[in-house]
Amino acid sequence: MKAGGLRAYIGLGSNLDDPVRQVRRAIVELSSVRLTELASFSSLYRSPPMGPSDQPDYINAVAALDTGLDSDSLLAELQSIERRHGRKRTGKRWTARTLDLDLLVFGDMQIDSRHLMVPHPGIRDRSFVLYPLAEIAHDLEIPGMGPIDRLLESCTSRDLQKLPSDDC
Ligand code: ATP
Ligand code: CA
Ligand code: CA
Repeated sequence: MKAGGLRAYIGLGSNLDDPVRQVRRAIVELSSVRLTELASFSSLYRSPPMGPSDQPDYINAVAALDTGLDSDSLLAELQSIERRHGRKRTGKRWTARTLDLDLLVFGDMQIDSRHLMVPHPGIRDRSFVLYPLAEIAHDLEIPGMGPIDRLLESCTSRDLQKLPSDDC
């Protein structure tokens, strides 16, 4: 880890324009964020859309970063990668997108500002976040939410499909 760095977990999602490729490319791009190292990343998963159902399934993954950036700078880097992937903001929640990068966890910090909530409040209800996160951080304690294995116990993975590594 870089001196003074924190471990951050990033949730990746895509359901447009070759989602597997979008997610794989984004993982490579995360590894070249300034002052940041890619520590690990999960398998790819397929999940049904949240919110409006008239959109394709999503491909999801989680990446672990060690970063010397502060949370706002890291969020800005994530948004810049989203823009590079042609992410368009429709103004409507949870609609189809080429790439979504959510800052899930940032060290042991709890942040509640106008533009950033950490840990991401959706973590506990979303199997497409919890399962890939647990794959790379099985003993993670999520600040304010508790151990990840306890969150997994109350979250069904029925509609989540882990892709074979050949497809990843
Ligand atoms: P959700 O956040 O429920 O997964 P979403 O990813 O579709 O929904 P976006 O449209 O990508 O939502 O983001 C809306 C805003 O959420 C962003 O402009 C950003 O400022 C804010 N935001 C708050 N907390 C976070 C976080 N932890 N990671 C990323 N964005 C966040
Ligand atoms: Ca999201
Ligand atoms: Ca987002």
